[in-house]
Amino acid sequence: MNEFDLISKYFSWPLSDTSVVLGVGDDGAICDVESGYQLVTSIDTLIAGVHFPKSTSAADIAHKALAVNLSDMAAMGALPKHFTLALTLPEVDQSWLEDFSQSLQQLSTQSGVSLIGGDTTKGPLSIAISIVGWVESGKALRRSGAQIGDGVYVSNTIGDAAFSLWQLNNNDAPDSGCLVKLNRPMPQVELGRSLQGIASACIDISDGLKQDLCHILKASKVSARIEVEKIPLAKVLTDHVNKKNDWSLVLNGGDDYELCFTVPVKNQTMLSGISKRCGVKITQVGVICESGDLEIVGAKNIGRSYQHF
Ligand SMILES: [Mg+2]
Repeated sequence: MNEFDLISKYFSWPLSDTSVVLGVGDDGAICDVESGYQLVTSIDTLIAGVHFPKSTSAADIAHKALAVNLSDMAAMGALPKHFTLALTLPEVDQSWLEDFSQSLQQLSTQSGVSLIGGDTTKGPLSIAISIVGWVESGKALRRSGAQIGDGVYVSNTIGDAAFSLWQLNNNDAPDSGCLVKLNRPMPQVELGRSLQGIASACIDISDGLKQDLCHILKASKVSARIEVEKIPLAKVLTDHVNKKNDWSLVLNGGDDYELCFTVPVKNQTMLSGISKRCGVKITQVGVICESGDLEIVGAKNIGRSYQHF
């Protein structure tokens, strides 16, 4: 099977998005942009053995490769619209491609985002997705807007994916809820959109709560005090933390793809409505304060954050 047959068989499904003028199949894609909107773009690469265990199924890999990109759109408060895919494969395995393609199509349809082009090549398995979203002009969420006195919030529970990976690495029977968070994270796109004009800064948690919050603090030139007892945890993770007295999975565990954001006091009353409408739990874990080191109250054994290099 040559590259062109592979693309037409597995990566060119019909699109209903009218903003796509020309999709897969030419040298480039052509898309309309609605007036009053700005484009937001982002790219994320997943490499076998680095970003997912080599035993991960094709369907889980496809889901995650797109989900992590959708999560970056969520962090910006953007509406995901289009994506391109660069797929590097060690060999053409048709049943793997079938599963990968089906799962990618499923999440893209569910999220209203269209595959408009890509590239395939031979080499060690890696998946790079570049995504484009739309945001109302001037309304994008950034890392740089946090102010002293703002509350620090997170969505849902933290550390589930890292706990699941820890279980896999320790040959523990995996907790099914945490395993779903590891393999099939659901990016908080609706929440991100709802936080436009409400949150003062936002980031998605890909490398761990501590490190990602620090990105907000650095960009905003402020600090924060968070209390570990306030961080929302799944029951299994609470048990793990209590047993081991170890907060490292909670504070440094990556792959949650939840949002961490800051909200000025005057906007905080709107959060319960947003939480209900989006079906997402929102929890305050701390407060923004003057510059200095991030203060983490109540934790022993914090450990090190994920490092890319
Ligand atoms: Mg991100």
